[in-house]
Amino acid sequence: MIDLNGVTNNVPGCLPCPFCGGTEIHIQIFSEGVDHAIACSACFMGRSSGNFYSDAEAVVAWNTRAESSENAKLRGERDAAREERDQFDQWNRETNAKLRSAEKCLEAAGSLLSERMMQERACCFVVYQIWLDAKAAYDTATTPTKADKNG
Ligand SMILES: [Zn+2]
Repeated sequence: MIDLNGVTNNVPGCLPCPFCGGTEIHIQIFSEGVDHAIACSACFMGRSSGNFYSDAEAVVAWNTRAESSENAKLRGERDAAREERDQFDQWNRETNAKLRSAEKCLEAAGSLLSERMMQERACCFVVYQIWLDAKAAYDTATTPTKADKNG
């Protein structure tokens, strides 16, 4: 029968969990004086050899549990993978910041370019209009009139 009031969290003096590396270890008292179970609060792996007469006895038993070499190897691999993930994450964030900065530059250059092209196009129209007006004036001035023909 589980008595939730008999749970002590973060039991002091416990080594990290040999399974997951967790540091929050709890003791649950199922029956005072006979049944003190100790387990990791993260993965719930407990001391497999059974329960204990006191918290102190449970802690001693917990701390003498040897970590298997396979667990140590797997934990090393997990930590290395985590480190690699963190480095990639950092690189990714820095690269994204550079990308956003480059996109802003591109956008600014693009709008400046299209503004200049519009100005140049407007300028061409003005020049063309001036040329049309000048041509019309020249044509008018050089077209022989009736008076010229008759004279
Ligand atoms: Zn654990």
